[in-house]
Amino acid sequence: MKIKTLSLLLLLFSVALGNAADRPPNFVVIFCDDLGYGDLRAFGNPTIKTPNLDRMAEEGQKWTQFYSADPVCTPSRAGLLTGRYPIRNGMTSAKRVVLFPDSSGGLPQEEITIAEVLKQKNYATAAIGKWHLGHLSQYLPMTQGFDSYYGIPYSNDMAKIKSAPNYRAGAEDPDFYPDYKDYDVPLMENDKDIEKPADQNTISKRYTERAVQFIEDNKDKPFFLYLAHSMPHIPLFASEKFRGKSIRGLFGDVIEEIDWSVGQVLDTLRKLNLDTKTIAVFTSDNGPWLAFRTHGGSAGPLRAGKGTSFEGGQRVPTIFWGPGRLPPGVVDQMGSTIDLLKTFASLSGTKAPIDRKMDGYDLSPSLLGSGKSLRNEFFYWNRGLLHAVRSGPWKLHFIQREAINYSRTVPMEKPELYHLEKDISEAYEVSDEHPEVVEYLVQKAEMHKQDTADSLPEQLSALIPNFKYRK
Ligand code: MG
Repeated sequence: MKIKTLSLLLLLFSVALGNAADRPPNFVVIFCDDLGYGDLRAFGNPTIKTPNLDRMAEEGQKWTQFYSADPVCTPSRAGLLTGRYPIRNGMTSAKRVVLFPDSSGGLPQEEITIAEVLKQKNYATAAIGKWHLGHLSQYLPMTQGFDSYYGIPYSNDMAKIKSAPNYRAGAEDPDFYPDYKDYDVPLMENDKDIEKPADQNTISKRYTERAVQFIEDNKDKPFFLYLAHSMPHIPLFASEKFRGKSIRGLFGDVIEEIDWSVGQVLDTLRKLNLDTKTIAVFTSDNGPWLAFRTHGGSAGPLRAGKGTSFEGGQRVPTIFWGPGRLPPGVVDQMGSTIDLLKTFASLSGTKAPIDRKMDGYDLSPSLLGSGKSLRNEFFYWNRGLLHAVRSGPWKLHFIQREAINYSRTVPMEKPELYHLEKDISEAYEVSDEHPEVVEYLVQKAEMHKQDTADSLPEQLSALIPNFKYRK
């Protein structure tokens, strides 16, 4: 008995010593664009082959109630990187839904990103892929705590040339393959355009090569890799090796290449013995773009998709991975990309900002298996307006948008109430049966609106004077 106690004490002592000597963990965020809840095998997709993501989910944690900060690109990214609802930093707007090549605005300089928080411990930081928080030099990743940037700075369908064929018509065919020259988007290295139009056939491959290189170059110090794929946002492109392979058509090819990319990143971590020193998360910026039919993803059992505040717009397939640190399993607690900043701060021993209103929760107790997520609510902002609120299993909608043409609102007679745990598809409206829940959620929404009344002015509608698109 005594020997056992002694050896246990010794073990605890050595673990404590090991931890003290340990460097803070690396963080990898793999962020897809417009990937739906139903597009991964781990979340029920029956046709797209994703062996690397399957393994990541088996070794890690599959989070089934995880939300992106907003149902469209720009505000979603602002929320992830700052740990605040995008209304707070002016990054959601009724005037313009996202940033475009003629936009002169971006994420305000005074906002504090995850990269800046991790700089307290001198992390090496890289942003690779889609930025979409301002493409003028004063808004690029290096002004927000990143050491370097490589990628297409906004959506890959922007600056479409006039003579290009209509993609929506093309997307009637699951195998329609676009021409990258129809989209006059730059590939940037730090603050310079290095290729225009960017050859998007190899974009996922080239982002991946850069990511692997960054990990290899920084294997001896803590790092934060933000790998934000341009895919599977339309127009869809895949490298030759993946094209025409998936029975799900071009969309499946694109996801299978992203799966390969995940394998490259995780295998590099394993090879360098960094897997047990790293926390990786795979997620998406918003739901599938349903207007593009088979070229868009699937929200699985969830209602509607991108651009809407139904679950299909914002509940995203999310996997956390941290071998040796995070116990594997399925987590059905609520979480959000807004929570990553505080979670990473907690896990790295850095400090989240305290001089401003933050909306994130530290998810580390649930990740480490020592407690429950503190997130019990979520506010669904959309185009500068509060569309819905969730508390526990209940969700109340104030404004709804059409599933396919999400620029249009759906007329509503009264706020609609759904019970998300009994009714994941938001199919059964139950406000008449639960007036007290409606009343509670109306009050909760009012309090949140008052709390966000001091937000920064909207940043998305300012224009570059005399901007001309290539014809
Ligand atoms: Mg998106």
